Amino acid sequence: MGVPDPFWGVMAGVLGAVVGSFLNMLIWRLPRGESLISPGSHCPRCNYALRAYDNIPLLSFLILRGRCRGCGLPIPWRYFWVEVLTCGTFVALFWRFGPTYHTVAYCLFAAALIAALFIDAELFIIPDELNTFAFLVGVGHDLWGILTRDAQQALLWGWLPRSLCGAVICSTLFVLIQVVGLLLFRRDAMGDGDVKLARAIGALLPLGQALVSFLLAIGAGALIGGALMIWRASREKSQAGSREQGFENRKQEPSERLSSTSSVTPASGSADDSSQEEPEATPLPTALVTGAFYIAFIDLLIAFGALLRIGPAVRLKQQLAPEMEEEELDDFVAGPTHLPFGPYMVIGALLAVFIGDPLIQWYLAWAGLAAK
Ligand SMILES: [Zn+2]
Repeated sequence: MGVPDPFWGVMAGVLGAVVGSFLNMLIWRLPRGESLISPGSHCPRCNYALRAYDNIPLLSFLILRGRCRGCGLPIPWRYFWVEVLTCGTFVALFWRFGPTYHTVAYCLFAAALIAALFIDAELFIIPDELNTFAFLVGVGHDLWGILTRDAQQALLWGWLPRSLCGAVICSTLFVLIQVVGLLLFRRDAMGDGDVKLARAIGALLPLGQALVSFLLAIGAGALIGGALMIWRASREKSQAGSREQGFENRKQEPSERLSSTSSVTPASGSADDSSQEEPEATPLPTALVTGAFYIAFIDLLIAFGALLRIGPAVRLKQQLAPEMEEEELDDFVAGPTHLPFGPYMVIGALLAVFIGDPLIQWYLAWAGLAAK
C-alpha cells in the first residue's frame, strides 16, 4: 500500500462527517415522509436555502455559531453531534477493521443505526427503511465474505449463512420478550421496530457480539435512561415558572419534540398518571403473527413484493402498515416515564463491535476460574 494508514484514517473521518451531514437531513425528512432529493437543504423555519458554504460538515455549524444565517434562530445541537458521532464512529471502525470490506459494511450499518438512534429518541419510531437497509448490509457483508472464502463468514454446517442464523436468533429473542411482556404484564415490552433492529444487528455482528450488545443496551438504558429521567424531572421543576414568559414557544421547535412533550405533560409524573396514559397492549395473536413474520423475514418479502408492485404483496403491506403505524403513534403518546429502547440498542451494538469480544473472553475466563 503506497499511502500510509493515517491518511485513510483522516479520509474515513472526513467521509464520516459528510455522511453525518446527510444523516441530519435523513433524520428530519425520513419520518416526516419528505423527499430526500428535493428541495435542497433549507432551514425548516424560515426556508433559507443553505449555500454550499453553509453546508460544510462540522465547520459550518461552528462558523455560524449554531445559528441559521437566514433567521438567526439557534440550530439544534443535534446537527453538530450527529456529524461528530458519525465522524468518530467511521474513524474508530477504520481503526478496528483497516482497509477491508468489513469497514465498508460496518460504516454503512453504523450510519443507518445512528439515524435510527436520533429518530427513535425524538419520535419513538424506527423507520422500516433504516432497519431493512441495516439488515441488507449485514446479509451483503456475509455474502461477500462467503464468496471471497473468508473463514470468518464460513457457512454453518456447510449450508447456513451466519447472517441469517444470527438474524433469526436475535429476532426470536426479542419476539419472546414481546410475548412474555404481553403474557405477564399485559403491555408492550418491546416495539416492533426494536425486533427489526435486533434482526439487523444479528445479521451483521457475530452472534456473541450481538448478544453482548443487547446486555450493553440494557446497561446503557438503565444508566442513561435513569439520568435522563432525573434531569427532566429537575428541569420541569425549574421551567415551571418560566413557562409563561413566552420563551417556551421559541424553544419548542419540532426536533426537540421529545423534550417538549415531557415538559408539556403535567410535572406531577406520578405512577398513577403514567398508568392512565399507558397505551393499549397489542393483542397476543397479533403479536405472535407479526413476530413470526419478522423471524421468517416475511415482512421483508412482502415489502419487496410491494416494491415490485405484485398485487397481493401490495395489499398485504397496506394491511400491515397502517396497523403498525397506529401502534407506533400510540407509543409516541406514551407518558413521560416511557423511554424508547432503540437508541440504547444502537449504543450497545456500536460498543459491542469494539469491546464485545474482550468482554466475552473476560467472562469466560472469570466463569472458568469460578468453576475451579
Ligand atoms: Zn432559518
